[in-house]
Amino acid sequence: VNAPDLPPLEVFLCAPRGFCAGVDRAIQIVELALETYGAPVYVRHEIVHNKFVVESLKSKGAIFVEELDEVPDTDQPVIFSAHGVPKSVPANAKARNFFYLDATCPLVSKVHKEAMLHDKRGHEIVLIGHAGHPEVIGTMGQLADNVVNLIETVDDVARFKPNDPENLAWITQTTLSLDDTADIILALKERFPSIKGPNKDDICYATTNRQEAVKYVAPKADVMIVVGAPNSSNSKRLREVGERAGCRQSLLLQRASEIDWDSLGDIRSVAITAGASAPEVLVEEVIEAFSERYQVKMEVVITAKEDITFNIPRELREAAIEAG
Ligand code: SF4
Repeated sequence: VNAPDLPPLEVFLCAPRGFCAGVDRAIQIVELALETYGAPVYVRHEIVHNKFVVESLKSKGAIFVEELDEVPDTDQPVIFSAHGVPKSVPANAKARNFFYLDATCPLVSKVHKEAMLHDKRGHEIVLIGHAGHPEVIGTMGQLADNVVNLIETVDDVARFKPNDPENLAWITQTTLSLDDTADIILALKERFPSIKGPNKDDICYATTNRQEAVKYVAPKADVMIVVGAPNSSNSKRLREVGERAGCRQSLLLQRASEIDWDSLGDIRSVAITAGASAPEVLVEEVIEAFSERYQVKMEVVITAKEDITFNIPRELREAAIEAG
C-alpha cells in the first residue's frame, strides 16, 4: 500500500537469508514423519530455533520435549533436533526401544566426526563455541565428559592449560561469528603453533553467506533488521555483524509486531535479513509492515547463490513411499 504521502524508504533485502539446507531438512523430517506415521511424533528440543516453526508443527501433531524422559513408552517416532545430540541420547533411545529419527544437520555431524577422529588420533580437543548451546552440548557429548575443552573467547585461549601443548586440535560450532572465530583461531595458532584443525573453520556455508550479505549491505542502511529467534545462535551473530558494520540500529526480532516504530526515528533505509531458522513468511510480514508506513523502494542484494540440499534419512524416505 504505497501511498504517495508516506515517507520514502529504501529497503535492502539480503540474499541469501533465512532457511538453510539443514533447517529445511529437519522440518521436512518432522512433517514427513507426521504424514507417514500419523500423530503424535515426539521431537527432542525445538527442531530448529524458531517459535513460529515449532507452533506450526505442534498444530500438526508434533510434541516437543526437552529430554527423552518426558516421552512415554511409544512406537511413534522420536526425532532429534537439527542441532545434534550427545551420544547418550541415541543410546537412551535404543535402551527404551524408541524408533528414532535423527534430524541433526549433516554439517553438524561432520564436526562430530572430526571430534571423534581427533580423539582417536590422541589429540586433545578444543571446541570454539558458546557454552550451553545445544549444538555445543551435542558436540562435546560425542566424547567422554571433560575430553573436549570449550573456548568461547580470545581470553579463554590465554587461560587454557592443555595437557600437552604439542598435541592439540581445534573444531568449531557451525553458527559462530566469522570475525570473532578468526581472532580465536589466530590466538590458538599463536600460542600453540602445532595445533591441528580444519583448513578454515567449521562455520557452515549458510552462516558464512548470511553474515557476508549483512556485512555488504549494512553500510547502505540506517537500520538492520534480523528476523530470527532470540535463542538462535546464527541470528544473534547476524545482529552483531549489522551493528559492527555501522548500522545505527541493528535489531533481532521474531515478528513484525515487535518493531518499535517510534524508536526507529527518522530513517531513510532499512536492510532486512533472516536467520537460518526463520521462515520467509515472517520476512514478508516485516516488509508488509514497512510498506504500510513508508513508500518502499525495494532492492534485493544478492551476494551469493545457494543450491545445497540434504537428503532425509533413507528409512523415512522408504517408509513414506511405502505408505503412499
Ligand atoms: Fe546446518 Fe548450518 Fe543450517 Fe546449522 S545453520 S542447520 S549447520 S546448514
